[in-house]
Amino acid sequence: MCYGRRMKKLAIIGGGAAGLTAAIAAGKQFRESFGSDASEYAAITIYEAADRVGKSILVTGNGRCNFTNEHLDLWRYHNSDFVRCVYDALDARTYAPHVPDGPKKEEGFSPVTDFFEELGMDWWQEEDGRRFPLANKASVVVDVLRAAASVFGVKEACGCAVKSIEAPREEGKPYTLRMADGRFERADAVIIACGGRALESVDLSAFDGLRILELKPMLGPLRVTKDYIPIVRELDNIRVKCNVILMRQEDENTMGCIGSESGEILFRKYGVSGICVFNLSRIAEPGDELNVDFFDLGHHEWAADVIRNRARAAEKLLGRTPTCADVLRGFLLPRVVDAALKPIGLSPDDLCAPDDEEMISDLGTRLTFFSLKLAGIGDSNLCQVRRGGIDVACVSSKTLAVEGQAGLYAVGEALDVDGPCGGYNLHWAWSSGLLAGQCAAKKLIGSGEAHD
Ligand SMILES: Cc1cc2nc3c(=O)[nH]c(=O)nc-3n(C[C@H](O)[C@H](O)[C@H](O)COP(=O)(O)OP(=O)(O)OC[C@H]3O[C@@H](n4cnc5c(N)ncnc54)[C@H](O)[C@@H]3O)c2cc1C
Repeated sequence: MCYGRRMKKLAIIGGGAAGLTAAIAAGKQFRESFGSDASEYAAITIYEAADRVGKSILVTGNGRCNFTNEHLDLWRYHNSDFVRCVYDALDARTYAPHVPDGPKKEEGFSPVTDFFEELGMDWWQEEDGRRFPLANKASVVVDVLRAAASVFGVKEACGCAVKSIEAPREEGKPYTLRMADGRFERADAVIIACGGRALESVDLSAFDGLRILELKPMLGPLRVTKDYIPIVRELDNIRVKCNVILMRQEDENTMGCIGSESGEILFRKYGVSGICVFNLSRIAEPGDELNVDFFDLGHHEWAADVIRNRARAAEKLLGRTPTCADVLRGFLLPRVVDAALKPIGLSPDDLCAPDDEEMISDLGTRLTFFSLKLAGIGDSNLCQVRRGGIDVACVSSKTLAVEGQAGLYAVGEALDVDGPCGGYNLHWAWSSGLLAGQCAAKKLIGSGEAHD
C-alpha cells in the first residue's frame, strides 16, 4: 500500500497506435505496483487533437489493419540499429529471460502479437507473414485497445490539440502542456505520440538537445516527369504484376540498380502506385528511373525466348504470321501493349514472325525495360509515413526517454523510424508504445514520495 503519495500524472500526446499502446502499458504497470487502487495514485490522460482516439488506425491496411508481420527483416527499417535495440529491450522486459519462471518467448511470437492476444484479439496470417485481426476490420483493433485503456482508467481528452510542451522549471517539477485553445495542463511525465504528420505543429523548442529532422512523406505513389505523363495517362487504373527496378545514374554512361521489388503496380494519370512502388518510394529520388519488367524474369534474353515461343504458338493457332498484338494477347492488356510499343515506333499490328529475331529481341527488351523517369513522390496525402521527426540519437534505445530530460519520452512515427509496407510501421508504433509506457510508469513509481 502507498501512503502520502502525490498523484502522479502521465500525459500522452496523441491517441494513435503508439499513444494508445503506451497508455495501456503504463496502466498495467501502475496496476502491478498499486493494485486495483492504481487510479488513486497515478492518472493517465491521452490528449488527442481529433474528436476520438484511434482514427489513424482505422484507415490502415485498407481498413483491415495489417498490425504486424511474422517475418520482420529488421534491416529494412530506417535507423535499423536503433530499432533492433528497442525491440531487444522490449523482448527482455516482456519475456524476462533472467527470471527462471518468467514467460518464455515462443518461436514466431512477438510482444506485439502477445499483447493483442492478451487484449482478446484473434488474428490470422497471410502466406507472406502479414497479420490481420481475424474479423478483418481495423475497428476491432481500436475496440480492444480502447476497452483495455478504460480498464486501466485511462482518460481520453479528445479535441485537445497540444501546441507546445514546456520543460519543468526545476528538477522534480512537472512539464506544462499548452493546448491550442489556450488552456494548459501539468504532467510529471510526457510521452510524445503525435505521429509524423503533425509533429511540426507541436512546439518542442524548449528542449535544446532535441533535434527535429525535416519530415519527408514516404511509402507512397511516384510521379513521372512531364515527358512520361502521356504514357502513364493511357494506362490509368491498370494493374500489372511485374518486377520493378529502381535505377540511378552512376556516371555519364551507367545506370546502377539501387532497389527492386516484385508484385503488382497500379498505373495512375501522374505515375505509378502499388505496394512495390510504395516500398521503392523510400529510396527513390527525382531523376531516378523506374524500370518495369513485365516478364519478371530478370533478363531480356529470357523474355525473348518466351516471346519466340508465344509467336510459334500464335502462328500455329491462327495459321498465319502473327502480329505483336497476337503474340502478347492473353499475357498483357491491349492498352499496355499499345503504350509499351508506341514510344519505340512499333505498333501492335506489326508482324512478329517466330524467326524474326530483330522484332523478337526488340519486344523482349522493351517489355523487360519499360522505363519511366521519376519526378518524385506522387501525392504526399497518400503517403503512409513520414521520415524524419525526432532524431533517434537524442533518445535512449533502452527506454525511449529523451536524453537529459527525465520524464519525457518519444514513440511511434514521431521518431525518425520507418519501415516498408507489410506491418512494419504499426509493429514499430505498438512496440515503442509498449516500451515507453512501461518505462514512464516505472519512472513515476520509482520517483514517488513515500511508497510502500
Ligand atoms: C492509409 C494508411 C494505411 C496504413 N496501413 C498500414 C498497415 O496496414 N500496416 C502498418 O504497419 N502501417 C500502416 N500505416 C502506417 C501506420 O498507420 C503508422 O505508421 C502508425 O499509425 C503510426 O502510429 P503513431 O501512433 O506513431 O501515429 P498516428 O497513428 O499518426 O497517431 C498520432 C495521433 O496523434 C494525434 N495528434 C497529432 N498531433 C496532435 C497534437 N498536437 N495534440 C494532440 N494529438 C495530436 C493524431 O490525431 C493521431 O491520433 C498506414 C498509414 C496510412 C496513412
